[in-house]
Amino acid sequence: MGNNLNNPVKYLKSIGEKRAIAFSHIGITCIKDLLFYFPFKHLDRSKLLTIEEVVHHVVQGYEGEVTVIGKVLESEKINYGKKSTFKVRFKSGDGMFDCVWFQGINYFSTLFKDNDIFAVSGKPVLTKYGNLQFVHPDYDRLNEKEEHEFLHTGKIIPLYRVPKELKTVNLGEYGLRNIIHSAVNLCVNELSETLPDNLIKKHQLLSVIQAVKNIHFPESIDLLTSAINRFKFEELFYLECLVALKRQNYKHNLKGISFRVSAEPIKKYLAALPFELTKAQLKVLSEIRKDMESPLPMNRLLQGDVGSGKTVVAVISMLIAVYNGYQAVLMAPTEILAQQHYKNIAKMLAPLNIDVNLLIGSQKKGERTEILNSIANGSTKILVGTHALIEDKVEFNKLGLVIIDEQHRFGVNQRSLLIDKGVTPDILVMSATPIPRTLSMTVYGDLDLSVIDELPIGRLTIKTHLRGDNTLPLIYDYIVENSKKGYQTFLVYPLVEDSEKLELKAAETYFAQLSSNELKDVRVALIHGKMNWKEKEEIMNRFADKEYDVLISTTVIEVGIDIPNANLMIINDSFRFGLSQLHQLRGRVGRSKIQSYCILIVGQDLLKNINRSTFNFDYLSKEQIEYKKTQIRLRSMVEFSSGFDLSEVDLKLRGPGDIFGTKQSGFPELKFADIVADMPLLIEAKEDAFNMITDDPKLMKESSKIVKNVLNTTYQKNLHYSNIA
Ligand code: ADP
Ligand code: MG
Repeated sequence: MGNNLNNPVKYLKSIGEKRAIAFSHIGITCIKDLLFYFPFKHLDRSKLLTIEEVVHHVVQGYEGEVTVIGKVLESEKINYGKKSTFKVRFKSGDGMFDCVWFQGINYFSTLFKDNDIFAVSGKPVLTKYGNLQFVHPDYDRLNEKEEHEFLHTGKIIPLYRVPKELKTVNLGEYGLRNIIHSAVNLCVNELSETLPDNLIKKHQLLSVIQAVKNIHFPESIDLLTSAINRFKFEELFYLECLVALKRQNYKHNLKGISFRVSAEPIKKYLAALPFELTKAQLKVLSEIRKDMESPLPMNRLLQGDVGSGKTVVAVISMLIAVYNGYQAVLMAPTEILAQQHYKNIAKMLAPLNIDVNLLIGSQKKGERTEILNSIANGSTKILVGTHALIEDKVEFNKLGLVIIDEQHRFGVNQRSLLIDKGVTPDILVMSATPIPRTLSMTVYGDLDLSVIDELPIGRLTIKTHLRGDNTLPLIYDYIVENSKKGYQTFLVYPLVEDSEKLELKAAETYFAQLSSNELKDVRVALIHGKMNWKEKEEIMNRFADKEYDVLISTTVIEVGIDIPNANLMIINDSFRFGLSQLHQLRGRVGRSKIQSYCILIVGQDLLKNINRSTFNFDYLSKEQIEYKKTQIRLRSMVEFSSGFDLSEVDLKLRGPGDIFGTKQSGFPELKFADIVADMPLLIEAKEDAFNMITDDPKLMKESSKIVKNVLNTTYQKNLHYSNIA
């Protein structure tokens, strides 16, 4: 068998030097690369309908896609006002249809030449004049031979994206299709298998050769589906191998600390708390305790909605470390939060004679040196701090436990930075953003999961309302009334156009105006990100001591702050916030037994038809999609109180990569599989990958050879994700 796979593409007929260069610009250099340039879609004759059938289909209210074939009769660009439209009329066997584009008009107007034959597929609509129309359909130019094959022999035709680099060397849809066809014919059989044999058998997958053949030129729709399925599985399997290796690497290749847990001091601490732990807190604590006792390092994610009481759990875990002669560190995402944690923990632990210290970025140099020294010589037992901790200067005497609060604020990588500081400390990551199951199997798959799934008893659901900005006068009245009852209010102004300066200005302006007019009868304070931490601390302390009724703030109070007496959260311009931010902000109230309220202020126009927005974003412009998504976000805040429900909505709106910053993490990008839609396959792939890595952690066995090889080639650049590169 010759080795054509690695030959440069120019060896194929109809690719000369010039086209070879163009291909190299899109990352295709050898013939094998062409085999893996997959179509984005196929024209399927079973979806091919006559015009009459399509009209019937629309009238009956079917929503699926159809395919039609037609010859270009005429095309025109229509301008009205600033907007323009491009419309092509096609003639088909038994009638006419139109295709319409609102974007990319200049491009499309050069593409559709009279008398060319196209296959068009998309969702058909009937215009008010009764014309059959496709908006922004997929299309493909066919030559006569293909048209014949498609119509008469039922061949399924692949559609490839033709990037502009190829267009400039005169390659169009069918040119590219021909080239790929000859590449597949020439050397698909030379491909070597990239999945272990036992998995192919177990899941009845196509071989790589069959899969590549059928993903390009499928013999049937069933085979096409099988081909796609094989690539989805392969992708998920290797992803889970990376996850399994990462977990393996932390759990078993590193030596952990085996803490001894003695109940007495913890009981003493618990007895001093003004409340009993919830069942969920106790359950989670026993999971953490087991991990800490074990000689394997703990690597655990503690998930619990805002207000569920994660801090107490953190403190008890830190106590275990300290009573074993180790240091513990608690990292928070903001100075304010670090400072609050510090204050609370120091107060709680003062009777136990444990030295707690605070380290944040804005401390003076002298103070900082002193703290650093006390960390290095071990007199600081518990350290609370911000990202400043990650800096190289911090050297621990004997670090035993790392706790990261509000994990969603940290990139995935920052986690491992701190891990490198100690020998192998136990790690507890805490997050209020519930991580959907799909993500806890992927991005966070190396962590064990504990969930606090109940709020302390007596908590009332926060009542959330959406209000137009025209109602602000009433809302100010309400704030005054609320203050008279002895309760406190947060009034938040968001970031304006990404500018901290403008944000500050807005908050300052409102503060000046409100405190001398609408809110002149109550005590108002202002807090913002430009203040230094002493100033912030001062204001927060006074707010906590009820010296103020209303706290006007920029987004600095977003996470973690705990003021149980505050029961009213008003968020201005709430459309600017993402869902998890809104949920975090709302979580600043509802932290005691009093009824709390969250009022989301928006421009009135956003409230129009807000209940009609669905997740269908077809045919909408960017602005329209944004508008709809905003409506869904706001509505979901009213509808759902649990962070878990909201995170599912968020996942649907934004996709997983965006939410958890997976893009920077070295986590491989998925081309075929969708971890939400393909969850069942993900579960299988995970099981197989984890079994394999458990059984053969170093991939030494003969049966693991293929996997090892693929990881070292295809996934080489992702290996640092697993900390094994
Ligand atoms: P989060 O999980 O959002 O970090 P916190 O740990 O800040 O929540 O706890 C929220 C509030 O609930 C705090 O005021 C805390 O003292 C209180 N709390 C924690 N656990 C309990 C409990 N079991 N019963 C009553 N209140 C509790
Ligand atoms: Mg917290």
